Amino acid sequence: MADNDLTSAAFDDKPPALVRDGKLVCPYRDCAAEDQIIEIDVATRTNELTIEGPGRIKVGLGDGRFDHECYECAQCVRPVSLPDGHELVYP
Ligand SMILES: [Zn+2]
Repeated sequence: MADNDLTSAAFDDKPPALVRDGKLVCPYRDCAAEDQIIEIDVATRTNELTIEGPGRIKVGLGDGRFDHECYECAQCVRPVSLPDGHELVYP
């Protein structure tokens, strides 16, 4: 039995999206797209995320029944995580 699982831990490491001027910004320097962060569910539906206010991220469709899979940048299609200290807001 393998007791050293560093490979999968590194694979799960997603950089958190940045918050700049009230917009979610892709953390990858060669992309840095603004307001392109989306939620992906297991059926590959997407949910647009925008900053609503300090510490609040608005979920575009307001569908809280999403079977959450991950977050990614719609511009460069790479996985990201959400910035610390923010809560998701469903309209
Ligand atoms: Zn990007």
